[in-house]
Amino acid sequence: MNKSHTEVWKNCLKIIRDIIPSVSYKTWFEPIVPLKLENNVLTIQVPSPFFYEYLEEQYIDILRKTIRREIGADAKLEYNVIMENASYADGKPYTVKYPSRNKTELNNKPVQVPFELTQPSIKNPFVIPGIKKIHFDPKLNPDYNFNNFVEGECNRLARSAGIAVGTNPGGTAFNPMMIYGDSGLGKTHLAQAIGILVKERYPDKIVLYVNANKFQTQFTESIRNNNKNDFLHFYQMVDVLILDDVHEFGGKEKTQDTFFHIFNHLHQSGKQLILTCDKPPVELQGMEQRLLSRFKWGLIADLQRPDYETRLAILRKKAYNDGIELPEEIFEYLAENISNNIRELEAALISLYAQSTLNRKEITVELARKMVEKLVSSTRKELTIEFIQKVVCDYYKIPVELMQGKTRKREIVQARQVSMYFSKNLTKASLASIGSRIGGKDHATVLHACKTVNNLMDTDKHFRTQINEIEKKLKV
Ligand code: ADP
Ligand code: MG
Repeated sequence: MNKSHTEVWKNCLKIIRDIIPSVSYKTWFEPIVPLKLENNVLTIQVPSPFFYEYLEEQYIDILRKTIRREIGADAKLEYNVIMENASYADGKPYTVKYPSRNKTELNNKPVQVPFELTQPSIKNPFVIPGIKKIHFDPKLNPDYNFNNFVEGECNRLARSAGIAVGTNPGGTAFNPMMIYGDSGLGKTHLAQAIGILVKERYPDKIVLYVNANKFQTQFTESIRNNNKNDFLHFYQMVDVLILDDVHEFGGKEKTQDTFFHIFNHLHQSGKQLILTCDKPPVELQGMEQRLLSRFKWGLIADLQRPDYETRLAILRKKAYNDGIELPEEIFEYLAENISNNIRELEAALISLYAQSTLNRKEITVELARKMVEKLVSSTRKELTIEFIQKVVCDYYKIPVELMQGKTRKREIVQARQVSMYFSKNLTKASLASIGSRIGGKDHATVLHACKTVNNLMDTDKHFRTQINEIEKKLKV
C-alpha cells in the first residue's frame, strides 16, 4: 500500500470534513497543503506559526486518528510552517520544520474517582478546599514522554524496565521501581514517562505524580487540619503512584511513617509504585530501616552520565522538537564540552537560541564557545574522586595503584586518608561510595580518615602545609 501524500491527505480530509463544523473546516483545513510522505511521516504545510499552534491545540486528536487510519499505527505528522514576513532571496516563503508535539489527550485527562459517591467526605489534597468534586489529575507533564527520552548506555536498563512497568503496571517484579541518579540525569523525566505510558494504555487507571516535598507539605497540612484520614484514603486510591525525590524524606520520621503505610497498602493491592532518589537506597541518610528494606523489594535502576553519542542524540532531538535547525558542528561542540548533566546541556542550547535571536546573530561555533565558557565558569567544575586521588598521589609521588591496594605502609595509608578527606569535603559523594572507590574501604574507615586528617592539621604544622598545597593543586 503505497499511497501518495496527496491521496492520504484527501482521505483524511474526507473524514475530518464530516466531523467538524464547516466554517472551522474551511478556516483551518482548506489552507493546508500536503507536501510529502516519507517513512510514515506525513508533512503538511501550514500558513503561520499560529496556525500550527491552533491545530496542535484543537485538532491534534482528529488529525492523529485519521492519519493513523491512513498510514498505520506508527504514522507521524510534521509541519512545514511558513514564517510570516520572511522569505528567501528567490521569493520562496521561508519555512521552519516542526514535528507534531503529538500531545495525547489521555495524558492529563482527569479520572472520576469511583469512591466519589460512596465516600463524599474524602478530600483531595491537590484541590482547593471548598471544591467538592474530585477530579484526578495525574500531574504529568506531557513533554516528559518516552518518545522524547533518548536511549543510551547510561539509561538502557532503567528505560526498558520503565517501559515494562508502564505496559503492565503492578504486574511485573519491578515493584517498587526505584530510579536513582545524580541531579539532571533524567529521573523525573523517566518516572513521568512511565506514568504517561500507563495513561495511554489504561486511560482509566489513576496515576499520580507527586514530589516528596509536596507530599510532605500535604501531610503536614492534613495534620493541622485534622484530616489525616482523608489524606491517607486519597493516596490509597491511586493505581500508579510516582513519588519523586524520596531522599527529601530524610530525617522526617512522621512522613516516612505515613508513606510506609501507604506503600504497604498499595503494594498489597497490586498497585504500582515508582520512586526516584539521588542516591542508591543503601546510602540514603535519615531513612527508616523498614522503609529502606521495602525499597529493595523491586527493582533498583540507576541513571548514569550520558556518553558523547547520547549527549549528541539528546541535543539533536531537543533542537528538532523546538523546530530549530543547527549545523552539526554546534551539536558536536556542545556535546564535547558539556558532559556533567542533561539539564546543563539543554540550558546551553536554549541560551544559544536566545542569544542568537536577541543579537540577531547566526549560531556559530564561536558563539557556542563564548556561551560555554560562561556556563562552565559559573558552574565551576565538580571534582571527581579519581582526580583527587591522582593529585594526592602525584603530590606524595606514589602510584595510584598502590593506594588502591591493601598496603598498610604509613605513607600510603596517609595518602589514602588525605584522598578520603578531600573527597568528603570537595565532592558530593557519600562516605560509603568514597570508601568503596578508594581502596575498597567501608564508610567507617572514611569517617576515621577525616577525623585523623583534621586532628593532624591541628597538631602538625608541616602536615597542615602539605594539605594546603594539595588543596591549591585541586582547585586550579
Ligand atoms: P532529574 O530529575 O534527574 O534531576 P530531569 O528528569 O529533570 O532530571 O531531567 C533534566 C532535563 O534533561 C529534562 O529537561 C529532561 O527532559 C532532560 N533529559 C533527561 N534525560 C533525558 C534523555 N534520556 N533524553 C532526553 N532528554 C532527557
Ligand atoms: Mg527531578
